[in-house]
Parts: sequence; C-alpha cells; structure tokens
Amino acid sequence: MVFVESRGNDGVKPKSVSFSEAILHPSASFGGLYVPKELPKLDRDFLLQLPKNYKEMAFRLLRLFDIDIEDSLLQEALELYDKFDDPNNPVPVVEVDSNLYITELYHGPTRAFKDMALQPFGYILSALAKRRGENYLILAATSGDTGPATLETFKNRPNIKVACIYPAGGTSDVQRLQMVTEDGKNLKVIGIKGDFDDAQNALKNLLASSAFQETLRKKDIHLSAANSVNFGRIIFQILYHIHSYLEVVQKGAVAFGEEINLIVPSGNFGNALGAYYAKKMGLPIRKILIASNANNILTELIKKGRYDLRDKSLVKTTSPAMDILKSSNVERVLYDKFGASRTRELMQDLQEKGYYELTPQELASLQEDFDADFSSDEEVAHTIKEYALDKNYLFDPHTATTIKLYKKYAQDCNVAYSTAEWTKFAPAIWKALSGEELRDLEALQAISQKLGVVIPQKIAELFTKPIVHDLVVEKEKIEEEILAFL
Ligand SMILES: *Cc1c(COP(=O)(O)O)cnc(C)c1O
Repeated sequence: MVFVESRGNDGVKPKSVSFSEAILHPSASFGGLYVPKELPKLDRDFLLQLPKNYKEMAFRLLRLFDIDIEDSLLQEALELYDKFDDPNNPVPVVEVDSNLYITELYHGPTRAFKDMALQPFGYILSALAKRRGENYLILAATSGDTGPATLETFKNRPNIKVACIYPAGGTSDVQRLQMVTEDGKNLKVIGIKGDFDDAQNALKNLLASSAFQETLRKKDIHLSAANSVNFGRIIFQILYHIHSYLEVVQKGAVAFGEEINLIVPSGNFGNALGAYYAKKMGLPIRKILIASNANNILTELIKKGRYDLRDKSLVKTTSPAMDILKSSNVERVLYDKFGASRTRELMQDLQEKGYYELTPQELASLQEDFDADFSSDEEVAHTIKEYALDKNYLFDPHTATTIKLYKKYAQDCNVAYSTAEWTKFAPAIWKALSGEELRDLEALQAISQKLGVVIPQKIAELFTKPIVHDLVVEKEKIEEEILAFL
C-alpha cells in the first residue's frame, strides 16, 4: 500500500511514500494529508473466513493492506489489546434497543476510544524510530482524551519523548489525573493557564520558534504527530467497523450481505473516516450517520454542502471531545471523492475565505454515504436519563448524541459507537440523572450507588495516585519548559 497527498505534490516531497514514512513524517505537500492510493477489497469469502478473535481478525485485515511492517511487529502491536478488560473480546458489541447495537470502543487503559488506535500505533512508531536510530518528539495539545491515551501508549517507550499541554481547569478531574499521575521519564505534562485554544496556540508558537527548531536540530530530534490525522491511527480505526458488522451478523440481526448503518459521534472525523474506508472496501454499509453536539459544522456540511467557519465560535458542551470546528479528516473524504486539485482548492477557500461550498453534484455524492444530525446538551441529558433508567444502559454524553440518528433510522439495523466510558464524564451524567452538580469523585460514587455500576480500578485509583506533573504555567513559559525537558 502506498500513500499519496490529498492536495497534490509540490515537487519537493516524494510523489508517494510507504506506510512507515507516512506515519513518521505525517505532513504532506501544501499542508495536506497522506491518503492511501488504493484500498484493498473485502470480498465475501475473505469476510466470511475472518477469525472471530479480534487480534487475529485485525492481523488478517492489516496484512490485506500490504503495509511495510513485518508480521512480528504487527503481532506485538496487536498484543496491546490484551490490556483491555477482556482480552478475548476487547471490543464488545451489545444489543441495546430494537435495531440498535452499540460497539463499546472504550475498554482500553484510558477508558476512551483513542486507545483503540493509539495503543498499537504508539508501539509501532517507537519500534520504527528505534530501528532507524532516530529520536522523535511528539507534541500534543489536548482537551481531555487524546492526552491520556498518548501518554499511556508512549510511556517508557524507546526513542520517543512526549510533551503534552492541557488547559488547567479545562478538563474533567479524571482526565487531568490520568495525565498528571502518568509517570515515565520520557513524558512531560504541562498545564497552562488558559483554554484549549490557548494550548493549541502555544504549540503553534512553539513550532514557529527558532530557538525550538535550533534545539531540535542540535539534539537531532525529529518531530512527529500522534493526532488523528496520522494514518497510523486511521488504519486501526477501519478494523472495528468490520468487526462490528460481523458481530451483528453473528447475532442474527442481519443476514450476511445485508446493509446496516453505522452511527459515529464525530469530532475530528477519524472514526467516521475509518467507517467510510470500510464501506469503500466493500463492507455492506448503507449510510454512515454523523452525530455531533452544538458545534454542528459537520451536520451543516453533510446537509447543505457548506463548510462555513465564519460567524462560528466554539461552544463548550458536555461532550468536549467533539467540540471542534476544524475537522481535519473530512479532507480525506474530499480527496477520495473529488481528487487532489479540487481538495486543494476547497481547503484553500477554507483558509482564505473561511468557508467552502460544494457543488450540488458533489453534495449528492457526499449524501450517498453520509447523513448527519446534532444534539444539544439538553437533548443529550434527556437521552442519558432515558437509556439509563428505562433501558438499563448507561452511556456517556458523546455516545448519547448518536440516539437522535438511531431514532430517525430505527427501521434499519444500526450500530452506534460508544467512544468513552461513563466514568470519564460522571458530573454531566449525574446532572442528567439528578439535576445536581457534583465533582468527578462524588459523581462517580453517586452514579455507582444509584445504578449499581462498578467504578473500574483504573479510575478509582486515580484519586489516590501520587501526582508526578504538578506544573501549571502561563502560556508564554511553555517554550522554556519544553526546551528544558529536551
Ligand atoms: C476523540 C473522541 C471523539 C471524536 O472522534 P473523531 O475520530 O475525532 O471524530 C468522540 N468521542 C470521544 C469520547 C472522543 O474521545
């Protein structure tokens, strides 16, 4: 499998690169992304013969992609799914309502779906760096879930250092504790006085700083990225859609070959892109249904063909991992449907004019694969309460945004994705259930008592673990701290 660039080639970078090159150096010409030149096809016999075991299934699928990673390394990376709650079933698919199955992607070490991709990806990236004798720095600005999952996967791995910046006071207690209690000599976690935008801007300033670039050069450190535009994450996010389909067939919900819908709570569109690629490869998917919160820019794109950042500002919601206006992976769908020169044009419009508009034909093409809707925080709270009390199924606010689309498509068979465990967003859930505002620890206990659900060890122990990273600084101090760390 080779990778080309979503905005075309600038004549300086190579015209195509291998998988390992695309994941070590993920930035492509003109600010574009690496995209697979071709996807393998899933034929009927191949699908029917896939092993039931998740790791074995994943291995067979990854071999189909023909990437330049040898069997033993892939197998070692996939062993990380053994750290999930049930190594024999790391990704449970649960029947929750009539024609509604929920695939729980959160059974990994940090209790959110980022582990699905970051666990094996981190292992592979570090192994490639070590083999080449190169050192890499991963910079992450996080609003909550990416930070813990990135730290967890790279902790004590060779040839990789991670610096992670989070907005102090801008994450939940659980998310903050997951980061500041993570020990590992190669990790630096810094809280900044400011919000997520300030954290991202601090990173941008750092990247533009000559002192920083000079230090990287002197120390021979390369920069890479572990955010969801790295194809090394996307590839692992194709696999569980195929698993979900085979599971609902196995459960007798549909006959093999019948189409289902996938409902994806979306932010940066990595999860949804994985679903799109699976559909293109031949998985029987009717529609990919994109669920959002009040930051409903994806709904507008899919319903109206317009991606418009003008007059929009980020709204803080109870599903913060979806509080996003620039959804990076949409670009890969644009490339796939409309080609590199049109993608470059659209992305340029977005940058220069603050919006882009698809033609009616382009919009029709998008709507062949996607539909979308969004839920307000009130709707989310109502849905959490309805499912917890009437259907005996507890989910987090991100997952709750999928239910509106399920209700619209309830005559079809649907798989919705649960992207975080309830424990990561306990205050919002307790408020939905009781109207009362509590902090994380008290909310966890209250929910556990009321609904008889168990707080997993990984979460409970956070509140007594020693804090290793207590640094909170003004955003101007970030550079100094990171240079000292390097
Ligand atoms: C990251 C995240 C999302 C959004 O996923 P994308 O792949 O960025 O669209 C949704 N829910 C949770 C809990 C997340 O952590």
